Amino acid sequence: MAIETEGLLSTIRDRSVDTEFYLPLPAGYKPGQTKYVVVVGTVMSGLGKGIFSSSLAKCLQDKGLAVAPIKFEGYLNIDSGTLNPYRHGEVFVLDDGTECDMDLGTYERALDQDLTKLNFCTSGQIFRRVLDRERHGGYLGRDVQMIPHVTGEVKNRLRELAVASHADVVFVEIGGTVGDVENAYYIEAMRQLAFEEGQRSVCFVALTYVMEPASLGEQKSKPAQLGIRELMERGIQPHIIACRAVNPVVHKVREKIALFSNVAPEHVISMHDCESVYLIPDMLRGAGCDKAVIDWLGLAERADDEAERRARETWSGYVNGLRNASRQVTIGVAGKYTSVRDAYASIIKAFEHAGVRLGARVQLRWIDTSELDDSNVAAALEGLHGLVVPGAFGTRGAEGKIACIRHARTSGLPCLLICYGFQMAVIEYARNVCGMQDANSTEIDNDCRYPVINLLPEQLRVESLGGTMRLGGQDVVINEGTWAWRMFGPRARQRFRHRYEVDPRYIADLEAAGLVFSGRSPRAPIMHFLELPPAVHPYFVGTQAHPELTSRPLSPHPFFVGLVHAALRLADPAYDQPLPFDAPPPARIAPNIETASQSSR
Ligand code: GLN
Repeated sequence: MAIETEGLLSTIRDRSVDTEFYLPLPAGYKPGQTKYVVVVGTVMSGLGKGIFSSSLAKCLQDKGLAVAPIKFEGYLNIDSGTLNPYRHGEVFVLDDGTECDMDLGTYERALDQDLTKLNFCTSGQIFRRVLDRERHGGYLGRDVQMIPHVTGEVKNRLRELAVASHADVVFVEIGGTVGDVENAYYIEAMRQLAFEEGQRSVCFVALTYVMEPASLGEQKSKPAQLGIRELMERGIQPHIIACRAVNPVVHKVREKIALFSNVAPEHVISMHDCESVYLIPDMLRGAGCDKAVIDWLGLAERADDEAERRARETWSGYVNGLRNASRQVTIGVAGKYTSVRDAYASIIKAFEHAGVRLGARVQLRWIDTSELDDSNVAAALEGLHGLVVPGAFGTRGAEGKIACIRHARTSGLPCLLICYGFQMAVIEYARNVCGMQDANSTEIDNDCRYPVINLLPEQLRVESLGGTMRLGGQDVVINEGTWAWRMFGPRARQRFRHRYEVDPRYIADLEAAGLVFSGRSPRAPIMHFLELPPAVHPYFVGTQAHPELTSRPLSPHPFFVGLVHAALRLADPAYDQPLPFDAPPPARIAPNIETASQSSR
């Protein structure tokens, strides 16, 4: 580790011809400007590496440093677009249309920062780049190898992110566990990165696990030791070891891990289970983890104590709000993947954010709609104060969802209809209010008489699966005098992931029958929001977008706040707190980025 490598990068940078071992640095890269924190996992997966990395990144961000996270995934998929949420958790979508791992949602929420495709990298992307370059003769007759070409591409991705983000610190999360075949070349690339950038430019943090078998009643450090040893065998000396455990890791065990891994005992820290993930940043600060990173990377001069004090105050306001909620409502989630909570991670978070804003705890009840119809739906929704019908694909449970929506619409149960749920609401309205008996979505029934939900025109040409939906951030133009206008004002920006839409041929009929399309695309007749007027229903709001993806702790999504507010009114008729919207803040409208895969309309 102590090899002095100053000057190595300038050798790479200044050369005019390709060397044997190094890719050229990306244009604009300033060596030494950006530092790196690399988080790797040992012993086992599922330790909460994403939560840990985002919490540590937040500690540094709170000090006024600019941070940029990146997640390296081992799998060969190009992105998460084709992954089953039942196995992998929800597919998160970024404003630029990137379909990625749900950890990116954790980063966006923790850092309150919009991320891009630069923040997410899979082995598929790395290999695709290398293979494309090979086909274009980019290797000048050389054989293409894992080292230096594949590892070079990994370092390239980090440096490209450094240039684009102007970050003080890039946070690198390596997926999987040290020793996995899939991530071995990422780890090798990180070793090279530290060598090239210079030893004070990269801080390695190993997240490990300290067991406490019930039969022994004491903490055992051997698996942790072996995991760290495996990392060291790969040429990486960790600077900080964070020990996940059920209970606080005792001094003796931390000392032992320190001895076996050449890490100062005060840098072996306990990351035991705690009541809320929001307490982790403070836990890290309490253990001196943020300071250890700052010291190692020599960032003390860039840190701002006053900014940190303010950020911590705001954050503890949120955490206290979460703890001290005085009211409670129960909201039903009518879904398909109800047995796997990760499939709805962002929805769960969005309710938490909205609850804190209104001083309420939101209890979710999972409703499997596959067995529901008009005869048993009232019983299934009994006792709820609100309903959300989330996004979905395919046909299973669709009729049950339509029954839920009909019940909510006719009984005045507040509801929020998201993406597929929005589409089911349009079908329900067409069937039961407009008299189009056989209305459906062509995703469900291609031959139905009234295809009120139909493929987007550009989807007719699409043949492959990955990255081909209408994806990412789109602007919404909003009609005056609607719920949506109260919440956003004239425009909003929302994130999308769909292939089907309201067929424009039916819009006039639906509107004539009282359904209000309150938000639409500025460029085409794509319906983005629907609602019923407050005189007709206390809260019946839907969107073709995924509002859960842009909800943040301190800026909850208004659609969720609206639902929880209506639920509170239903639960307690005396509840008289006003909706916190009537002076809407200016809508957050990002530059209009077209998605790479679609000519988005
Ligand atoms: N399956 C629907 C579509 O493709 C809805 C998608 C979703 O809910 N994300 O349009």
